[in-house]
Amino acid sequence: MDKIFTTPQAREIWEAIPKVYQTKISNNVYCGKCHKMITIVNFTGEAMQSSLVLKGKCKRCGYDVARVIEGESVR
Ligand SMILES: [Zn+2]
Repeated sequence: MDKIFTTPQAREIWEAIPKVYQTKISNNVYCGKCHKMITIVNFTGEAMQSSLVLKGKCKRCGYDVARVIEGESVR
């Protein structure tokens, strides 16, 4: 799973998340085109205040998907 983080803070938030939960998150992203939960691939992480925004593509159809992770909820 390749991940690119735009800032060290984004990486820090992601790495603070337990591995099991990281997998859970990336396997449960809603795709607006598939109308279901899909796996996000080729995503980048962007820190927005205490939250982390994952932006990537739907594994099934390639549509742009995003997932916001609240900083507090992962601690
Ligand atoms: Zn899709």
